[in-house]
Amino acid sequence: MSVKVENLTKLYGENKAVDNISFNINSGEVVGFLGPNGAGKSTTMKIITGCIASDSGEVFINGVNIKDDMNALKKTIGYLPENNPLYLNMYVKEYLEYSAQMYLQKNEVKKAVEAAVEAVGLGEHQFKKIGELSKGYKQRTGIARAMVHNPSILILDEPTTGLDPNQIVEIRNLIKELGKEKTVILSTHIMQEAEAVCDRAIIINKGKIVADDTLKNLKAPKSSDSITVEFSLGGNYDGNFDEMIRAFAEKEGLSVLSITKSKGNLENIFRELTQK
Ligand code: ADP
Repeated sequence: MSVKVENLTKLYGENKAVDNISFNINSGEVVGFLGPNGAGKSTTMKIITGCIASDSGEVFINGVNIKDDMNALKKTIGYLPENNPLYLNMYVKEYLEYSAQMYLQKNEVKKAVEAAVEAVGLGEHQFKKIGELSKGYKQRTGIARAMVHNPSILILDEPTTGLDPNQIVEIRNLIKELGKEKTVILSTHIMQEAEAVCDRAIIINKGKIVADDTLKNLKAPKSSDSITVEFSLGGNYDGNFDEMIRAFAEKEGLSVLSITKSKGNLENIFRELTQK
């Protein structure tokens, strides 16, 4: 299922939270929506999922404008909102059944909940109260809720925020696994997260898209990058190092152990694009 966003704008008073953005996400892609806090990521996700309306612009899910058929499209989209709101007094299984009922026929609920519990690895935790779960398992519960009706598109707003490093790795692996079957858009302000999980990154700053490319291209070497050359030296060398290096390979018969062209660092690219 594809997602197409065309000239989307959202104002809060004078503040352009989202400023005329357009992008396309193809079926099966895992795309990172990157940007500093306040960039407009959550607002865009809320518009795509139909939680709030845009001031102008359109969103198409598989070619259908969400304004024309939001109810049908909600079945296609699974959404994990920022801060993962959950009913802490409910049991995990009970909560998932309750959520599934909103989308599915009664006789479909049991199977759907079992599949979601299995997919996110909730296991025995499904019988616990949500309020008694660790943050990592709460997050799994939120993701299970987002996908209990088996949507083709998952929209996850900061899915690893507040997790410890082990839980972060677990949730990233889970998202990668889900990404094999579904189109996934996840927002994050953590660069390594995009590198770990996504095929492509859309970088947003102050409501505007400042980059939209594959991780590979974003990190591709640039002419301004430095080159590190490591030689195996046959003895002690003093004097003009530049000259010496130029002479090395040709005249001295040294074997070159490695020549490393430093790759673009996504963290630096992010800072460059969003600190304007
Ligand atoms: P991000 O998800 O990238 O952190 P948001 O989409 O939450 O960014 O916010 C974008 C901008 O819109 C920010 O300046 C934020 O303060 C503003 N904003 C978000 N939600 C509201 C709201 N309900 N009312 C007023 N301003 C808001």
